[in-house]
Amino acid sequence: MPTSVDQIQEEQAILLDEKEFITLFNLAPEIRTDPIEVYDMINPEPIPIIPPDYIQTCRALLNYLRGEKGLAKPDVWVRRMARHALTKDGISWKWVHPNKRVQGHLEFVDRAQCNFVDYIVVLKHQNDKDIPVPVGITEPDQPCCSQSDCGTVQKHLETLWAPCNIYVAKRIQYNEGEVPEDVLNRPFHTEQFASRHNDLCAYVS
Ligand SMILES: [Zn+2]
Repeated sequence: MPTSVDQIQEEQAILLDEKEFITLFNLAPEIRTDPIEVYDMINPEPIPIIPPDYIQTCRALLNYLRGEKGLAKPDVWVRRMARHALTKDGISWKWVHPNKRVQGHLEFVDRAQCNFVDYIVVLKHQNDKDIPVPVGITEPDQPCCSQSDCGTVQKHLETLWAPCNIYVAKRIQYNEGEVPEDVLNRPFHTEQFASRHNDLCAYVS
């Protein structure tokens, strides 16, 4: 499963000390020139966090968010514009591996605060806006909600976001020419949607 591979890779990466990592990957300790802005994905403030210039890698940023901002289990996502045709702006979010360099518009999710084990980012399209919503997701042998299983993406998101109606749910296709699959009646589980991915778009009224 991509979930466990991602987690193992991430944990191994986190174990590497920042200095060791820079030596290992032969990164020049230069000063960063690209601007970085970091927002809280769930409660975005108008003024972003601007990390100090020495922060170049996602690992360094995660350490900064833990040390300076008090986040227990942060994840970092990068926001990208015009990546698909499901909405006018076509915004998407990509989870950033700790080994990767960071730049541009970033958003964090604190898994501890959200009480997430596995989660995905759902692109919620409402009032003509693209809004990222991290949503916890379970494996197929566990119910999507603590008491019972809703059975479908539509019912699960309507339970979470009541009293909204979900009238479209499609799998986001990032390759040109691929037709987005209708997933309204699919079960909401990791078998359908890989953890730490943003491949579900829901139209909400
Ligand atoms: Zn549910």
